[in-house]
Amino acid sequence: MSFYENLVMEMQRNYSRHYGLYAAGKTPYELSRKPALPYPEQIRRLAQEVQEADCVLVGGASGLSAAGGGDFYYEDNASYRKYFGKFARKYHFKGAFDGMMRPWESREEFWGYLATFLHTTQTAEVREPYKDLDALLAGKDFFLLTTNQDTQFVKLYPEEQVAEIQGDHRFFQCARCCRDDTWDAVKPVEEMIKVMGEGTSVPSDWILRCPHCGGEAFPWVRGYGNFLQGRKYDGEYQKVSKYIEKRKEKKILFLELGVGRLTPMFIQEPFWALTLALPKARYFAVNNQYHFLPKEIEEKGMVIVEDIAKVLKDAAKIRAGKKN
Ligand SMILES: [Zn+2]
Repeated sequence: MSFYENLVMEMQRNYSRHYGLYAAGKTPYELSRKPALPYPEQIRRLAQEVQEADCVLVGGASGLSAAGGGDFYYEDNASYRKYFGKFARKYHFKGAFDGMMRPWESREEFWGYLATFLHTTQTAEVREPYKDLDALLAGKDFFLLTTNQDTQFVKLYPEEQVAEIQGDHRFFQCARCCRDDTWDAVKPVEEMIKVMGEGTSVPSDWILRCPHCGGEAFPWVRGYGNFLQGRKYDGEYQKVSKYIEKRKEKKILFLELGVGRLTPMFIQEPFWALTLALPKARYFAVNNQYHFLPKEIEEKGMVIVEDIAKVLKDAAKIRAGKKN
């Protein structure tokens, strides 16, 4: 097992031990009581941390995509209506994930919904906060670790620079994990969308099947199915582990963006542990809700509680100014 996955497992055990605390939106870590700096100073510090780092490990979570309009997962809002309108009117789901959890009367209808979901993220343009992040990191040695399955980072960067540890909407797996195999989901989804037209279901022979056992296929994602943790999954963890291992003596900046309270074990808590453990490491987080900075790393980091889209835009501007 790669070292980063080991770290996540350790955090997962800690999460289970303190489940009640986490469920209440809290953390068992002792937090810093340092007062927040004024916003312009925080932005200046963020740009400076990036500037001074030898390398940056970005941890991009749901808040990063949500800040750029990818906010249709957990609620029935304008963007959910925009992409899922015909299903929203028919089923009254509370966002894209809600529909994935429901018992569907027909598999044809379920696949119509699933194809719509995957097509929405596969064809989405690169969202503004991702572009601003790219500008903020210009010229640096950096790597992207993400729990987002929406393929935003791989639209901007080569696969070897991105680790997607919770899966990716561009791939299918066997729903029953009969084999350690994943395959392309982009082309079949595009065709299903065409076949479906204005309707809400696909014809029976368009339900995608596992080429090995003939059972149904499923997106290669964690969270609402049987996530295949095989070769591809290991590969994602290997990439991020190697990136850190090669740079552990360097001035590495852990930049956490938009981690919510549901899954602190994938990005946030490993980043805290590594910031503490590595001698020259620094930590910076941007979150629109939570000011969670552990006391034991308060001298090595900072948290900005603000809209992520705004923070990245403002910090990118400052950094661009510095270079000129
Ligand atoms: Zn199978």
